[in-house]
Amino acid sequence: MKIHEYQGKEILKKYGVPVPVGYAAYSVDEAVEAAKKLPTTLAVVKAQIHAGGRGKGGGVKLAKNLDEVRARASEILGMTLITHQTGPEGRLVQRLLVEQGVDIEKEFYAGIVLDRDTGKNVVMVSTEGGMEIEKVAEESPEKIVKVFIDPALGFRDYEARQLAFALGLSGGALKECVAFLKALYLAYEETDASLFEINPLVLTKDQKMIALDAKVNFDDNAMFRHPDFAALRDIAEEDPLEVEASKSNLNYIKLDGNVGCMVNGAGLAMATMDIIKLAGGEPANFLDVGGGANKDTVAAGFRIILSDPHVKAILINIFGGIVRCDRVATGVVEASKLVKPHVPIVVRLEGTNAEEAGVILRDSGMNFLVAKGLKAAAEKVTEALGV
Ligand code: ADP
Ligand code: MG
Repeated sequence: MKIHEYQGKEILKKYGVPVPVGYAAYSVDEAVEAAKKLPTTLAVVKAQIHAGGRGKGGGVKLAKNLDEVRARASEILGMTLITHQTGPEGRLVQRLLVEQGVDIEKEFYAGIVLDRDTGKNVVMVSTEGGMEIEKVAEESPEKIVKVFIDPALGFRDYEARQLAFALGLSGGALKECVAFLKALYLAYEETDASLFEINPLVLTKDQKMIALDAKVNFDDNAMFRHPDFAALRDIAEEDPLEVEASKSNLNYIKLDGNVGCMVNGAGLAMATMDIIKLAGGEPANFLDVGGGANKDTVAAGFRIILSDPHVKAILINIFGGIVRCDRVATGVVEASKLVKPHVPIVVRLEGTNAEEAGVILRDSGMNFLVAKGLKAAAEKVTEALGV
């Protein structure tokens, strides 16, 4: 789960990670009120979207007085912000963060992420802060210094010092940086985060370390341990198809291909995707409607698949074990009447009441391609695509 910068900074603050004073605002008036509460006259108005690169895209602006705060806030709020992370369609800005302007001496990068190869958290720093860290990783990976944390021992002081030294710090700034990184790691562990990215981590003119940006992602599988985090979710920022799927308890993940798949059971879904590829097609999604799929979940899944404009054909592969095939067939027919599919649909239903299901599909008056067997179904789908 992703959250906004201002929410991430609230969490960091609780763990003793220094962040600028700032307040969220949902309107231009609120932005001006927020600016009045800041300890500095220099304010920064920042678009809050779940994507980085806002500065370059015009979503982060300095304001020297309250009139400028009003002007910048009205420009940014409601704009469609396009950055290298939003894609060409951009994101509508509906929230702002108004925070104190910080006197920057130097911008660094700090990040924590789970490294899946070693099964350890990795704490990373770089002197190349402020810019696109992906570019640094590609062009000069030696400029990103990493420490892999032993889960049994935790993040040790000497490891934090090693990273602070790598940033070329000494004296008070070095100490500040060590404390910063330790607090950051504690916050990462205790919130069950999967990614922390502080870009830039800033050394101020008075030698303090402060997080000027905060990208915070949580591990969805640990959310049951943090019921209070549910309130931080901003559905407006999520893929609308995945949001709808989660409402219906469907396991849906959008992929790049053009064959929409609806399957019950994760194993069967994986096998279906494999056989589509084997037949020369590309799956447009993973969708597991669940072992106990009923008419409504089938209809919801169907609607979601059809809302993806890249889908050029659909393969429905349901094994009727707990669910009865005739119920699934009814769900498919009813959903088709509502959604009016514009693409060929191959249906393979096997198991309890498969014959009745076949009759329902044939009698529906709609053009379903009924297949017997998984291989035949996959071939029918790629045939329909003209692959
Ligand atoms: P993004 O990464 O989405 O572009 P950032 O929060 O990193 O957004 O802001 C972009 C740049 O704006 C920063 O690198 C920094 O130079 C400047 N900036 C951001 N917040 C502040 C602040 N509170 N005070 C001064 N400068 C800031
Ligand atoms: Mg940034």
